[in-house]
Amino acid sequence: MLVIKDLNKSYDTGKSKLHVLKGINLIIGEGEFVSIMGSSGSGKSTLLNIIGILDEKDSGVYDLDGIPIEHLSEIKAAEYRSKFLGFIFQSFNLIGYKNALENVALPLYYQDVPRKERNKRAMEYLDKVGLADWATHMPNELSGGQKQRVAIARALITDPKVILADEPTGALDSKTTYDIMKLLQEINNNGKTIIVVTHEPDVAAETKRNVILKDGIIESDEFITQRVLA
Ligand code: ATP
Ligand code: MG
Repeated sequence: MLVIKDLNKSYDTGKSKLHVLKGINLIIGEGEFVSIMGSSGSGKSTLLNIIGILDEKDSGVYDLDGIPIEHLSEIKAAEYRSKFLGFIFQSFNLIGYKNALENVALPLYYQDVPRKERNKRAMEYLDKVGLADWATHMPNELSGGQKQRVAIARALITDPKVILADEPTGALDSKTTYDIMKLLQEINNNGKTIIVVTHEPDVAAETKRNVILKDGIIESDEFITQRVLA
């Protein structure tokens, strides 16, 4: 469902050109749970951003659900993002002046879902992440783990094909990391494809496939025995 062939990406930094992704080949099927590791600057976020249609490749192939992602207008890119992709970030990226329920409901607003239906579905998704009692709380009244749960509910509410997570546990302590990874395992067990960038070997061990980037190439790509969290 996600096919990447000989993908290249450079950044022009004025003085010099930085070749960040150097011929990436990666096929990720429906229901996979993939971790991407690699040292700082190896191109993990760049790859995830291209997969997330937040950035553009220079050359090569990227097909998402059979659709070639190529020279998209901003409107088309936004349409594909909202149809196919859910995002989770290290810094949660919640809207500070909206409560938990409103944050979760926001993607449906952009899909023109009526308010009553938006709030009903947002409540269902808050319940799924264990935060039904926190709907009216503002982000600054929530712990890091609770904020990330709100972000996960928000990423799921449009029922995307793929969830993309860039260091989702990077700002969390180890107990909270455990809880968030357990939740992601549950979501994956329900059939959702998840791609998570992480520098934590423990987090990678809790996925089902591990890709390691080194200097812009895939150094290894292995299916692993998942450490299932109880
Ligand atoms: P980290 O683990 O620190 O998050 P990463 O593997 O995610 O690192 P990337 O963010 O993908 O690394 O960056 C790869 C390289 O590309 C880095 O050298 C970075 O400085 C450079 N880079 C990333 N984004 C841009 C940009 N928009 N403009 C110029 N250079 C960039
Ligand atoms: Mg990064």
